Amino acid sequence: MHECCAVVGIYASNEDVARLIFFALFALQHRGQESSGIATADGKRLRVYANMGLVSQVFNEDLLSQLTGDIAIGHNRYSTKGSSRVTNAQPITAGKSSNTIAIAHNGNIVNAEHLYEELSDQGYTFRSSTDTEVIANLIISSPEKDWVDKIRYAMHRLQGAYSLTIMTNDCLFGVRDPFGIRPLCLGAINGGWVIASESCALDHIGANFVREIGPGEIVSISESGVESYHEEVARPALCIFEYIYFARPDSTINGRLLYTARQAMGAGLAEEHPVDADLVMGVPDSATAAGIGYSHRSGIPLCEGLLKNRYVGRTFIEPDQRIRDLGVKLKFNPLPQILDGKRLVVIDDSIVRGTTTPQVVRLLRRAGAKEVHMRICAPPIRYPCFFGVDMATRSELIAAQKTIPEVRDFIGADSLGYLSIGGLIKAVALPKDIFCLACFTGNYPIPVQLEMDKLALESIPPGEQSTSGIKHLSLSLGTKSL
Ligand code: SF4
Repeated sequence: MHECCAVVGIYASNEDVARLIFFALFALQHRGQESSGIATADGKRLRVYANMGLVSQVFNEDLLSQLTGDIAIGHNRYSTKGSSRVTNAQPITAGKSSNTIAIAHNGNIVNAEHLYEELSDQGYTFRSSTDTEVIANLIISSPEKDWVDKIRYAMHRLQGAYSLTIMTNDCLFGVRDPFGIRPLCLGAINGGWVIASESCALDHIGANFVREIGPGEIVSISESGVESYHEEVARPALCIFEYIYFARPDSTINGRLLYTARQAMGAGLAEEHPVDADLVMGVPDSATAAGIGYSHRSGIPLCEGLLKNRYVGRTFIEPDQRIRDLGVKLKFNPLPQILDGKRLVVIDDSIVRGTTTPQVVRLLRRAGAKEVHMRICAPPIRYPCFFGVDMATRSELIAAQKTIPEVRDFIGADSLGYLSIGGLIKAVALPKDIFCLACFTGNYPIPVQLEMDKLALESIPPGEQSTSGIKHLSLSLGTKSL
C-alpha cells in the first residue's frame, strides 16, 4: 500500500534554504521514493529542479548551490509504475512572469478530470498527468488579485485531499483541504518558518514544532510574518492510516506520538484477541511498535523473527523474474534459530489484497514456526480509498470478498484477529469524528462525488480501471531543468 507524497516549505532569509529542504525531504523519504524536487525563489525569479529517484540520488552539491533564494519548497513523490515519469515530478510551476507559482502536493483531487476539461477549454495547457497541475492552473486562472484570494478561489472548486506548499517570488503558503485528510505542520527555525508533512522533518533540520496547520487553513508567510486564514470546515477527516502506517513513528500528529499510538494498537490487539503463544513479533518496520505493545500487554516475550532489508524497493534496477519470484524473501530474512518449534503471534499493520501476508506466514512456517497467529492493527479494509492511497478496487480487497475465517484460511494462519474500529480509536486516543475511516466503513467524507466515481469505476473493464478512482489524464511530455 502506498501513500502519496511529502511536501515541505521554508521561508528563512538567514539560511541555505535549498540545503534545509534537502534534509527535510531526506527525513520524509518514506512518503515517496519515485521522484524528488526543490524550487527556490529569491524575490525576482523561481528556480526548479526535479528528477526521478531518491532525494540523495536526485541532488548533489552543485545542484543545491544553484538553488538560491530565501524561500524554497520541496516534494517527494511515491511510486506507481503507470505514472512514473519525470514530467510528473514536483514541484511544478504554472503561470507567467509575476503571476508564477511553484507548487508541491500531497493528496488526490477527486474532481480533477472535470476541472482539467474546464481549464483546457479556457486555453490552459498541461505538461504533466498530475492533478497537482490542475490545482496550479486553477489558482492561476482565478480572477482575484491577491494570492490568498486566488488560493481560496481554488479551494472552493477542489474536492478531495490536498496538503500543499506553494511559493511565489516573495511568499510561501501552506494549505490544507477543509477535511484535513493529509497532515501538515508549521515549525520555526532561526527567525524563519518551516512547513512540512510531518513533524519528524522539523526535528531533523533543527526547527521547533509550532503547531498543526488546521483543516481548511491557509498559512501565508512573507516579509510581514505569518498570517492565517480559515475556510469553512464541514467535518475534519484525517486519514487514520497516518497513525497505522504512513507517518514515521517519531512524528507527532494532533499531539499524539505515532510510536505510542502504535504500541497502544498492539496492546488493544492483545486485549481483543488473546492467544496462548511462546513469542510475539511485529512485521518490521511499521508493526514493530505494535509488536512491543502486544508483548507488554500479554506478557508473551518479544522477538525479532524477521529481519528486513530496509533498502529493497528503493532501487530503480528492475529485478529479473527469478528474483521477483522470491517475493517477500527479497524483503525479509527469517531467523530459524529463534523461530523453530515456536507458537508465534505476528503483528502486521494491515491486510489489503492479501498477497503479501500468505508469503510471510509461509516464510515463518518454513523457518520452523509451529503456529502462526496473525494480528492486524487496521480493521478489515472493505472499501477503496479515493484520497490518494494506492489501495485497490473493491474486487481486489480481500476483506471485501471473504469472511474473516476465509481470510485466515487464505493466508494460512492458525488464527487471525483484526483490531476493531473502537479499539483503533482507543489506541489513537483522539475523538473518532476527526478521522476518515471510509476504507473500513464505506462512509466517505465526500459522498456525492465518490458515488459518481464508484459508478464510473464499475462501468470500466477491470483491466483498465485506475486504482485512484479517477482516470489518469493523458497529456504531452516535457522536461524540467534549472
Ligand atoms: S479511505 Fe482509508 S486510506 Fe483513504 S483517506 Fe480514508 S482512512 Fe485513509
